[in-house]
Amino acid sequence: MYALKFNEKVCATCPSADCLLKCQYMTFEKEEAHEEMMKIVRGEDSRVLHECMTCYACEEYCRRGNHPYYLIGERREERGIYTAPRPITNQWINMTAMQGKYMVGDIKEKAISCCFLPQLAEMATGEIFKDVASSVVFGAEFMCPAVHTHFAKMSVVKERLPVVIENLTKLGIKELICLHDECYGTFTSIAPAYGMEVPFKLTYYMDFLLERMKELKGKIVPLNITVAYQRPCSNRLIPDKHHLVREILDLIGVSMPDRRYQDENSLCCAELFRPIGGYRIADDVQRRNLDDMVATGAEYCLFNCPACQDVLSEKVAKRGLQPVHIIDLCRTAIGEKEREV
Ligand code: SF4
Ligand code: SF4
Repeated sequence: MYALKFNEKVCATCPSADCLLKCQYMTFEKEEAHEEMMKIVRGEDSRVLHECMTCYACEEYCRRGNHPYYLIGERREERGIYTAPRPITNQWINMTAMQGKYMVGDIKEKAISCCFLPQLAEMATGEIFKDVASSVVFGAEFMCPAVHTHFAKMSVVKERLPVVIENLTKLGIKELICLHDECYGTFTSIAPAYGMEVPFKLTYYMDFLLERMKELKGKIVPLNITVAYQRPCSNRLIPDKHHLVREILDLIGVSMPDRRYQDENSLCCAELFRPIGGYRIADDVQRRNLDDMVATGAEYCLFNCPACQDVLSEKVAKRGLQPVHIIDLCRTAIGEKEREV
């Protein structure tokens, strides 16, 4: 079984303890934050193991690359401190089990991964994806298992991720374009944190999208709209890619007004907070997030993760914001898709 590579000395000498100090769902004094993290490092009980909402953000807050979120999950599982009721945890494990019901297209050396999200296959079409759309994989066999970290089931991640990597490798894929942040984050953050080798090149879809939109620049008609961006939890695993959203929006004439809950202060879509922390905290986080979006005067709520979009679309629409995925916005900018109103 793979083990998390965690350097205790890095935490022991940490001058900031930003992982917990910046946490938006627990408050600490600076010394307390460091001491709680050290308790977790030493394998002792800590309030964090009982109160963490699994938003992934401490993976971004730790600038020393020491993977506090994965360690919290490991320690929870070791102690049997599971985050959600057992039927919900098991439901997720069963729902995402490999059952041979996957979909594989005409695989070339370069392929796109739709994870386990059929909406992505519908979006990844047209001019932008014309050279790669048919070379597609979808299904549990190719799905990143990071969702199980929300339930402190790190053992499921360690068991399934090597199989997913092997399944993709067997297809002869040399470059995988990940359409879901969670996949790219899993392959580039979780896999190396556990010493798993990924033998193919990984491309983040927003890098691909930016390059394609530059190539299609002549077709772009600036949209002249404003958006509030819903940053997904899995983007916290790949914070060096966050800047791409603004670069793509700049290219298609979309502005993103400043708001309180963006960039490092982004709030999670919070739907998985329901089984983990209860309805009250989930509703409170979603209300604060939506109030903040509305206050910017944005016309659209911009999504990156289809799961966030599923959860929040109706809610943002009721508050007067049109939900849209960044791929669809790009397709609208080149005249391929009608503008949603
Ligand atoms: S996880 Fe990172 S930020 Fe937190 S104490 Fe350790 S080194 Fe510091
Ligand atoms: S995952 Fe989120 S809620 Fe949990 S400790 Fe890290 S920042 Fe806080």
